[in-house]
Amino acid sequence: MNSLLKNKNIVVMGVANNRSIAWGITKSLHNAGANLIFTNRQERSKQKLEKLLAQNEIDPTLIVSCDVADDESIVNAFQEIGEKVGTIHGLVHSVAFANRDELNGEYADTSRDGYLLAQNISSYSLVAVTREVKKLMTEGGGIVTQTYLGAERVVPNYNVMGVAKAALEASVRYLAEDVGKYGIRVNAVSAGPIRTLSAKGVSGFNDKMSVIEEKAPLRRQIDQDQVGDATAFLLSDMARGVTGDVLHVDSGFHIIA
Ligand code: NDP
Repeated sequence: MNSLLKNKNIVVMGVANNRSIAWGITKSLHNAGANLIFTNRQERSKQKLEKLLAQNEIDPTLIVSCDVADDESIVNAFQEIGEKVGTIHGLVHSVAFANRDELNGEYADTSRDGYLLAQNISSYSLVAVTREVKKLMTEGGGIVTQTYLGAERVVPNYNVMGVAKAALEASVRYLAEDVGKYGIRVNAVSAGPIRTLSAKGVSGFNDKMSVIEEKAPLRRQIDQDQVGDATAFLLSDMARGVTGDVLHVDSGFHIIA
């Protein structure tokens, strides 16, 4: 336990199960003393979240439903959060989606619909969510999203999601400039490969994991808890001078040629 985020109200978007990166983040934020508000898309995810919270003796401040594909759903979710919780100090955006059949083969074969879907859920959602949550960040705050190396380099099969993550990282910079004047910081964590429900959709995922152990400076896998602690740091006052940035939590893999 530490008191890095004591009495801070933080919204966590994207816990689907105990393997979700957002669940690792939840544990770190709870350990840092934060009050937690959650959003889910699927009812099934909400039920899993409630079970996990009970098992870990974490008492949520609020759980609301939010489909980031739907502007009305986003507006309603943050309106409810504002009414029931009031001021928000942090937001974790840990959501992404692409059709499974676009996550293999050649990027040139990406369909228009598949391209737009990946951009919509994985990148535009950060813009829409920032617009709503900034209204509740009346004391300043921090926003952290989750990205991947496929935004910067060609990672086989990551394809349309790599391009969506590149847009997401550019959005982090543009949003950071927009909301900096309100004392709000926007950053991304670029995690190395972690076995989650979403990761299963990317072809050849196991190879991406094994290369970390072989080649990354730290020669070990990344887990949800490491991403959780880095996200807690970025949301905290310890990172008060950091915005518009991408912090790699990948055992140093991205520095290796
Ligand atoms: P999960 O499948 O556990 O989490 C993905 C989450 O996205 C789910 O909670 C899902 O909600 C949510 N989501 C999808 N579509 C929508 C929508 N329309 N509205 C609201 N929520 C939605 O996978 P991860 O934990 O791996 O993914 C979390 C983030 O981390 C993603 O941005 C991913 O790209 C990123 N990342 C993952 C890496 C990895 O190796 N796993 C590496 C680097 C980054 P629901 O369950 O309710 O549908």
